[in-house]
Amino acid sequence: MIRVCHLYPDLLNLYGDRGNIIAFQQRCRWRDLPVQVDSLNLGEKVDFQKYDFVFLGGGSDREQTLVSVDLMKRRDEFAAAIEDGLVVLAICGGFQLLGSYFMSRNGENIPCLDVLDFYTKAGERRLVGNVAIEVELNGSSFKVVGFENHSGLTFLGNNKPLGRVLSGNGNNGRDGLEGVRYKNVFGSYLHGPLLPKNVRLTDYLIGLCLERRGIKKELKPLDDSFEKRACEIMLRRMGLPGR
Ligand code: GLN
Repeated sequence: MIRVCHLYPDLLNLYGDRGNIIAFQQRCRWRDLPVQVDSLNLGEKVDFQKYDFVFLGGGSDREQTLVSVDLMKRRDEFAAAIEDGLVVLAICGGFQLLGSYFMSRNGENIPCLDVLDFYTKAGERRLVGNVAIEVELNGSSFKVVGFENHSGLTFLGNNKPLGRVLSGNGNNGRDGLEGVRYKNVFGSYLHGPLLPKNVRLTDYLIGLCLERRGIKKELKPLDDSFEKRACEIMLRRMGLPGR
């Protein structure tokens, strides 16, 4: 059984972020892999160690502040589970929360988990639009598409990005980097939602969850013709060649 924890689904769910959970769950079901999804809301108890996959979506600065107060109380257990190989996908506001701090436009500091030592500062304008990035997993690279809408500019320092920007802005519109990658943690600005649009990444996360359960097996191939076509159309719209 793969156990999934969806953090604050009622507060962090921008631009269809919940679709990431649906896609993850459905691609497990199609392969007869049992999966259970629990939601965690403000003030509820959680034991991160019992989960394989934790998902954190995006939210406005207001929602982010509410969530950060609650999440800070569980910071140490979350950080320990990450060190222990917990698979985490964090999108936009959720991604920002993994870093050290988020300095908002009025100079207020939204406290972040400081699980990773990158930081975010609100920029002058919102970065909005389609994005394509090149991601490398297990030595092979492929294109990932999504949609971004954020004012925060993230600077990774020495952390590794999830990918390199081919079109769009990514972390800050300057350094060509998108998202963050640490152990089994994947942070990204890509709404879209990300996983239904990029099934190779989804399957990679499912594989990591199985490994965490001690199961080593090849995932049964699925018919991804619609998903691949959708991805190709988005790449073409951005003026990029297909995969
Ligand atoms: N509040 C953050 C920003 O604008 C995150 C927005 C989001 O999750 N889309 O930078």
